[in-house]
Formats: sequence, structure tokens, C-alpha cells
Amino acid sequence: MDSTDFEARLEHFVSTVKQAGIKMTNQRLEIIKAIIQSEDHPDAEGLLSKLRDRLPLISIDTIYRSLWLLAELELITTLGNRSDSIRFDGNMKPHHHFVCKHCGAVQDFYNEAFDQLSTTVRDLNLGTVLSSQVEIRGICTNCLSSATAPDRPQAAEN
Ligand SMILES: [Zn+2]
Ligand SMILES: [Zn+2]
Repeated sequence: MDSTDFEARLEHFVSTVKQAGIKMTNQRLEIIKAIIQSEDHPDAEGLLSKLRDRLPLISIDTIYRSLWLLAELELITTLGNRSDSIRFDGNMKPHHHFVCKHCGAVQDFYNEAFDQLSTTVRDLNLGTVLSSQVEIRGICTNCLSSATAPDRPQAAEN
């Protein structure tokens, strides 16, 4: 993300929060900056460790409350319905996810064909689409290049 993109997103977040009549505290501002800058879809614990240097007194509850507030304002989204901790996504451009089953990394990617899925759903007369996000599961290139990945394609034996 370049700095103009960051500034534009920051401005959008700040003005949406203010328009909702919510006070912009320094803590909230730092949480917003951290979620916009995080491209790794962190959970609340992950954000806490990113923020600890700047905000030594911040609690995990404060982070959760702020994140849910941003989600209610539709500034961020949450990922999947997983049994493990909820992860947050500050990238509101239409995008899709590649999820590594081995290390859990979630990478954003863009694909016009996937963006057109709502047309397919309409053609099938399933209902109205409000948003669509494709989640592809696999093993990421990092894990593939490390010998510990369980599903690493094995070279043919003969
Ligand atoms: Zn991986
Ligand atoms: Zn994402």
C-alpha cells in the first residue's frame, strides 16, 4: 500500500467514525492506523502486540471494542466462521483470500472473474448478493518451499 492510499483510507475511517458521533480518541486512532497498515489479517492479540510499543497501557478489551465498532460501521470485515480467534481485515476494496492451511496466513488477491460472481448468483435466481468474497484454501508458497509442509507435492520416486 502506498502512502496516498494509506492517507485516503485513514481519512475515510476518521470521517466515518466522526459522522457516527463517536469520539476519536488517540487509542482509537492508533488502532485504526494499525488495522489499515496490517495486510496480514491480524486477530486482536496480533494487533495488541503491534500496538504495545505506542500504547503500553492498551487492553485487549479496548482493542476488541474498537474493532467491533469499526466492523459495525462497515469499515472493516471479519474473516470466516472459524473456531479459532476472529481475524480482522481493514482492506475494503473488493478482494479475495488465499488461506494457507499450514501456517494460517491469509493473502489478499484481486480477480475480476471472481468479482462477477454476483451475476452468476442472479442468473441462478438464488437471491440478491450484498457482497461476495472467495476464499481459496491451499498451501502458500512459503510453506511449499519449507520441508515441514505436510502437503508438499512429492517428486516422483522413480
Ligand atoms: Zn503457509
Ligand atoms: Zn483481506
